[in-house]
Amino acid sequence: MFTLVPQLVIGAADLSAAFLFLFGLKRMSSPATAPSGIRVAGIGMIAAVLASFLYVFTVDAAARPHLLINIALAVAALAIGGGAAWVAGRRVAMTAMPQMVAIYNGMGGGAAGGIAAVELFGGRTHGVTELAVTLLGGLIGAVSLSGSAIAWAKLDGVIKQPWRVKGQQYLNAAVMFATLVVAGVILATASGALGLSTATWIWIFFACALVFGVLMTLPIGGADMPVVISIYNAFTGLAVGLEGFVLQNPALMIAGMVVGAAGLLLTLLMAKAMNRSVANVLFTNFGTVAKARPGAIQGEEKPVDAADAAIKMRYASSVIIVPGYGLAAARAQQKLYEFVKLLIAAKVSVKFAIHPVAGRMPGQMDVLLAEAGVPYDMIFQLDDINDDFATTDVALIIGANDVVNPAARTDKASPIFGMPILNADKAGQVYVIKRGQGKGYSGIVNALFYGPNCEMVYGDAQAVLVKMIEAVRGLGAAAA
Ligand code: NDP
Repeated sequence: MFTLVPQLVIGAADLSAAFLFLFGLKRMSSPATAPSGIRVAGIGMIAAVLASFLYVFTVDAAARPHLLINIALAVAALAIGGGAAWVAGRRVAMTAMPQMVAIYNGMGGGAAGGIAAVELFGGRTHGVTELAVTLLGGLIGAVSLSGSAIAWAKLDGVIKQPWRVKGQQYLNAAVMFATLVVAGVILATASGALGLSTATWIWIFFACALVFGVLMTLPIGGADMPVVISIYNAFTGLAVGLEGFVLQNPALMIAGMVVGAAGLLLTLLMAKAMNRSVANVLFTNFGTVAKARPGAIQGEEKPVDAADAAIKMRYASSVIIVPGYGLAAARAQQKLYEFVKLLIAAKVSVKFAIHPVAGRMPGQMDVLLAEAGVPYDMIFQLDDINDDFATTDVALIIGANDVVNPAARTDKASPIFGMPILNADKAGQVYVIKRGQGKGYSGIVNALFYGPNCEMVYGDAQAVLVKMIEAVRGLGAAAA
C-alpha cells in the first residue's frame, strides 16, 4: 500500500514546507511577529521531514532492500538529534547562544557534506554536471563544518588567540588549490587511472576541504567571529541547496537558498555595521587583542555611587540606555526594565539604543529586552537614535564598551577606526555600569570612560540595578 503513496502528496508537502519557510522568514523581520515566524518555519520543517519519509515509499521495492533498517536508523537519528537539541536549547545561557548558533550551523554544513559523501562513495552521482554540483556542495559543506567548529572554539574561549603563520594566505590558497585539483581528478576519472581508487581521492578531497575550513578560520580574531559565523551560515545554506539539487528535493533546495540568501544579507549588513568589507574581515587582523597606545588616553576614570546616579536619572527629562554584552552576562534585563518603569513613572523619557554588534550575537540585545517585556517602540537601532544623544540628558551604558568607543570616530590608528558607534559620549552626562577596568571584546581601551562628562558605576550590572531601584523607590517613600 505504501508504494502507492502518490507523488502528489510529497509535492504538496514540499510546497507547503517551502511556503511555510518563506512565510516564517517574513514574520521574523519584526520582533513583534518573530516568535510566531519561528513556529511557522518549524511547522514547515516538520512537513519537509514527513515528505522525506514519504519519498522512501515511492522508490521501487528492489531499490530499497534495507528499508526497515534505514527507517529505524533515520527515526533513531531524529530522536537523538531532536532530543539533544531540545535539552540543549532549553538549558543554554543567553551568553552562550553564539556558540550554539556556530555549532548548529556547522552541523548543517556537515549534513550537506554527508549527503555529498554518501552520493560520491555510493557512486550514485551520474553526469559531469551532477558530479560537479555534488562536489561543490560537499566542499562548501565541509568548509562550513570545520570552520564553524573553530568559530565555536574561539567564542567558547577554548582557542584564546588567533593562530597565524608567515605566509598564511599562501598556505590557505595552496590548500584550496589542492582541494580543487582533487575535485578535478574525481571529475575526470571514476577509475584508478591515476594510481589511486576514486574512493581514495574522495577521502583526500574531504580531508583537504576540512583542513581549509580550519586554516581559513584560525587566523581571524574573536571580534570578527559574528561576521565569520554569518558567512558560514551562507555557506551552509548554499551547500544544502546544492545537495537538494543533487537529490532533486525541492524542500532542501528552497530551504538552502533561503538560508544562503539570509546568511549573505546578514554578512553584508554586519560588515557595513563595522564599516569594513567582507574581504577585510577574512584577510586582516581586526580581532586581535590590541595593545593600549601609551599616552593615547589622558585622565582617570571617575567612580560614582549607584544611588547618586539613579537619583540624577530620576530627575532628568531624557535618558538613553545602551545595553551591551555585560547586561547579558549579568542577566540583568529584568532589573533594568524594573528600573526603567520607575523612571517612566517619574515622567522621564526613556529610550533604548541598540548597536548591530552589541553583545555576542546579532539581535542579542533585542532578544534580551523582549524577554524582559520592554515594548518594541522603546527600542531604537543605531541609525534611528544616534542623533538624539546630543540632546539627551543622560546616556546610561550597561555592560557595553566597544560599541560606544569614540576611538572608532577619531583614532586612525585604532583597529576599530571607521566602525559606526553609538554617540553616547555626546549626551550631557554619561554613566557606565561595569565591574572594573575590564576591556571590551576587541581588547581596546575606551577613551569615553575618561571623558569629562562620564562617571563609572562599578559593580555587576544586576547588583548595581538593584541599588538603583532601591534608591529611586526610597525617594518615593521619602516623598510619601
Ligand atoms: P564589549 O565586549 O565591548 O564590553 C562588554 C563590557 O561588559 C566589558 O567591558 C565588561 O567590563 C562589562 N561586563 C562584563 N560582565 C559584566 C557584568 N556582569 N556586569 C557589568 N558589566 C559587565 O561589549 P559590547 O556589547 O559593547 O560590544 C560587543 C563586542 O563583541 C564587539 O567588539 C563585537 O564586535 C563583538 N562581538 C559581537 C558579536 C555579535 O554578533 N553581537 C559576536 C561576537 C563578538 P568589566 O569586565 O569591567 O565588567
